[in-house]
Amino acid sequence: MNHTPTIASPLKGFCHPLDGKGYLSQGIRGKTHQNRMEYAYDIASSIGTPVYAMRAGRVIRLQDKYPDTGGTKAHASKFNYVWIEHDNGYRSAYAHLQQGFRKRVQLKAGDWVKAGQLIGYSGNSGWSSGPHLHVEVQTQGSRAKFSPTVPFQISGSCSTLARKAS
Ligand SMILES: [Zn+2]
Repeated sequence: MNHTPTIASPLKGFCHPLDGKGYLSQGIRGKTHQNRMEYAYDIASSIGTPVYAMRAGRVIRLQDKYPDTGGTKAHASKFNYVWIEHDNGYRSAYAHLQQGFRKRVQLKAGDWVKAGQLIGYSGNSGWSSGPHLHVEVQTQGSRAKFSPTVPFQISGSCSTLARKAS
């Protein structure tokens, strides 16, 4: 059995989704990280920064149809994202991706991805006040909708993992 992740003992095994680029602009329980999203991270990064899978898994769903104009809470559902389920049942989500990413990375639902694989580009779609990547890890659960976030730790280089996997 997995232990229940806590802030003191977060879920481990996630490489840096921007491979070390950007800076943390909002962390746990930040202004817009409440309730379901309380353990999410925002990493400020310029539009077009490559985004990597933090852990191996299978793409549950992805969305690529909104412009990188940013927006208010009214745009909360209008964001581009990739959603991946991992071997341990937890899921990771990568949000506000750059419009058009899907064609560039050739990804579709059901695809398996390796840790460190390129899955998109950072953007500014949806409820976003400036270009950034929102990442979160969610509890195991229904694939119908995003489930509550759990504390997780980002460590290590995704590009190093990708080299090992290939
Ligand atoms: Zn966020």
